[in-house]
Amino acid sequence: MRIVIKVGSHVLAENGSVAKERMLALVELIADLKADGKEIILVSSGAVSAGYTQLPLDRSVLANKQALAAIGQPLLLKMYQEKFAKYNILCSQVLFSADVFSSTKHVNNAKVAIDTLLENAVVPIINENDTVSVEELVFGDNDRLSAHVAHYFDASLLVILSDIDAFYDKDPNRYEDAKRRAVVHTILDEELNAEHTPNNEFATGGIVTKLQSADFLMKHGRKMFLASGFNLLDVRSFLLDQKHMGGTLFTS
Ligand code: ADP
Repeated sequence: MRIVIKVGSHVLAENGSVAKERMLALVELIADLKADGKEIILVSSGAVSAGYTQLPLDRSVLANKQALAAIGQPLLLKMYQEKFAKYNILCSQVLFSADVFSSTKHVNNAKVAIDTLLENAVVPIINENDTVSVEELVFGDNDRLSAHVAHYFDASLLVILSDIDAFYDKDPNRYEDAKRRAVVHTILDEELNAEHTPNNEFATGGIVTKLQSADFLMKHGRKMFLASGFNLLDVRSFLLDQKHMGGTLFTS
């Protein structure tokens, strides 16, 4: 089974720095999933926050974010390499420009490389090349990219690890009586087109881009699981014990 795991910038950033313990917990989860026979592709944000630890430029300026991503991307990969090495796992960097999925030729080239990495037990770590394509920096935070990665590289499931532990019937950060939706089969048009509300300077996605990703995947016969990236118990039990405790499963 091939799974794409996407981790949001919120989860990987902490007080203007990279949340090393959360990164280690994620790497441990991936090691366990690989030991369980699963092929894992990681889509990781966090380059801008990693860059900010070295040079605190004003992140509200897009050009600064591009520069911070260029500074942070190699640092982020170095941190992943060190953590994966603890489990004797090799990881790799794959950077995409936003238009890669509009070219069949480029998608095919990338698929050959990804398949080869996976055949050799290497974890591909994908990010958008934020220095040249600013789309995800402005809008999406890799939610859309990860859905395309799951579809075009033939994964049956996309797991989004977020600052929120599930999809609710309304924003749980604003309404105390919000109820978790455990399984979602269809997404309403008004939910897909809602105004996006990124809730801090690192979050450019919000729930809407996650719903759009889920909708895209369900229309293509694939599934998406949204769960907390702060506490990995729900995603662990879902993927390793086939028990759906928390989190939301989107499936047609
Ligand atoms: P990440 O950066 O982890 O990918 P985001 O912060 O971009 O995640 O998106 C998740 C946020 O979306 C939550 O913190 C929450 O405030 C907001 N949100 C709005 N409506 C909902 C909803 N119906 N269910 C869950 N979260 C929602």
